[in-house]
Parts: sequence; C-alpha cells; structure tokens
Amino acid sequence: MLTAVLLRSGCWLNWTPRGKCPDSDRSCREPHRIIYIPRVPEIDILAIAAHRDDVELSCAGALMKAKSMGRTIAVIDLTAGELGTRGSAETRAAEAEQAAMVMGLAARENLGLPDAGIVNTPETRARLAVAIRKFKPSIVIAPALGGRHPDHHVSAQLIRDACFVAGLAKVEPGTPAHRPRKIIHAVTHREDFAKPTFVVDITDVFERKLDAIRCYASQFEGVTQAGEVYPNGDSLYDIVRHHAAHYGSMIRCRYGEAYYTTETMRADDIGALEVPTF
Ligand SMILES: [Zn+2]
Repeated sequence: MLTAVLLRSGCWLNWTPRGKCPDSDRSCREPHRIIYIPRVPEIDILAIAAHRDDVELSCAGALMKAKSMGRTIAVIDLTAGELGTRGSAETRAAEAEQAAMVMGLAARENLGLPDAGIVNTPETRARLAVAIRKFKPSIVIAPALGGRHPDHHVSAQLIRDACFVAGLAKVEPGTPAHRPRKIIHAVTHREDFAKPTFVVDITDVFERKLDAIRCYASQFEGVTQAGEVYPNGDSLYDIVRHHAAHYGSMIRCRYGEAYYTTETMRADDIGALEVPTF
C-alpha cells in the first residue's frame, strides 16, 4: 500500500513500505515510487466555508487585509454548489477561481462534500482534517455557529471538530498532525449575534472585496438577496456595502467585518484600548 509522506521541502512523497513493493520483486529499503506533488504553501490564515462565494461575502476583507500585512491566505470550499438555485457547479468553479485571483489567495481547494447535505461525521472530520494539515494554518476562519442554511451551521461545528482532529496523530496517520491555534467565526450578515467579539477595519480593501463578490455573476447579478444576506430592496452589492458600513461604525471606521470567538479576547494595556465611548 502506498503511503504519502510529507518531506521537509513541503513536497509529498508516496512511498512503499519495505518488502511491500508492487513494482518489484526486491525488498525496498528506500522510498521506492516517488511522486512529487507541487509544493503546498504553508498558510497563516485559512478560511473554510460551505459554498463558493460564502468566503467572499463573509470574510474576504479580513483575508485581503491580512495579506497586505504579509500573511499568507487560502480557502477551502466544502461543496461545489451543485444544488444552488442559480448557476452550475462548473460556472461557480470558474467564478471561484476568478475571485481567488482578486483576493490574492495562495491556494483554493474544493473538498467535494454534498451540497445541502454536509454532515459532521468521523469520516468528514477526518477528510477535512487532512486538508487542513496540508496548509498548516495558525488561524482558521469558520462560518457563524448559527445560520439560515443548514450547511452553514453544520460546517461551523464540522470545522471546529476537524481542527481538533487534525491534531490527533493517529487519525489519518499518513499526513503529519497539525492543529490550528485559533478559530474565529465570521458573523457579518448574521442578525442573531447581538454583538461581535471584534470587528476588522476593512476600509482599505472593501472595494476589492466587492470586486471578488462581483466575480459570482451567476449568483449575484441583478439579485437583492443571497444566502444569509437578507433583502431590503437594494441590490445585493449595496446591501453588502450597508452591512460593512454598519460594522465599521461599531469601531468608528468606514467599513468593517464582524467576528465572534468562543474565547475571551485579551487586553494588556487598558490605557491603549481602542474604540472611544463618546
Ligand atoms: Zn453558503
């Protein structure tokens, strides 16, 4: 049986354990069948969401801002969106590639879980854990823990559980264990979170976030509502701008994105606390 081994170089090496080589009668003392897969970039911040376009709507601003500060960013979409009301999986794949370029992602993967049928099982946790290990992220961005679409809130818990499982060496032992340090939940557009834990100032990258959203013409062109973004009569793009302006006002800037963490955030110098009361 072939086993994948991650080399120090970051390449994956498929090797055959000693004496089990399918291509030779000789016992193999060294890695035998060597297949180099292109180097997987190590990622600082990995955003994972149920559907192509979820990341663009919820956390593209924070991703692009992190990139502008020197962080590496990547995305895993859990499904191909084959059951979406508008567009096809193929169209959405091309749109996602275009949006990846706008956001400057180092990588974008699709896990191929069933659209409108994401479940949190030992199998899906292990599969996502392997994908997370490849990127070795420090921070993972997940959807809100509640949501209108079942895929969204199921994904949120699946991602949390997969991040934990990714640190268990005996689960899928062919890939080295890695547990991300922290998970944050993107809660922009969610109306059931009274207050976010923090808001990221995305003023400098907001127009590029809209450009990334506009890549999904099959989903958003001419519509006034999408996914978790509820309608108010304006175009979807205008609603996104209104929400960003609302979250921005919470931290006294023009545009913001809202995040929730289960952990309490730390402050060291209360003399330097931001966001004035008056
Ligand atoms: Zn979605």
